[in-house]
Amino acid sequence: MEPTDSMNMDSYKTMLAEVQAFHDKHNFKETGGEELTYRIALMAEELGEISSCVTKGKNKEQLAEEVADLFILILGTAISADFDLNQAFWSKMKKLDERKSKMINGRIRVSEFRDAD
Ligand SMILES: [Mg+2]
Repeated sequence: MEPTDSMNMDSYKTMLAEVQAFHDKHNFKETGGEELTYRIALMAEELGEISSCVTKGKNKEQLAEEVADLFILILGTAISADFDLNQAFWSKMKKLDERKSKMINGRIRVSEFRDAD
């Protein structure tokens, strides 16, 4: 689908519909493209590509493209596993907002800090 003026490109709904159209185009549902173990491997692969952007000093455009690859896979995983990622995002952000932060080895960490000193 080509972006049009009437499309809200900032909306989760529009992005999800685009990924759904991509899944439909290649019939992912019937061809193993929505199997979760396979998708985890694909997401790990993209995470590795993101890592390599950082460790090999690639530019911001290359990094953004690899992060977009992972983001698209994440949206597709919400489709594959049939959960509402938009709802999960807001519900998790609410939990995170209630958590405390701590400096650990010079870096900030926001967590529940269970079993921590
Ligand atoms: Mg990639």
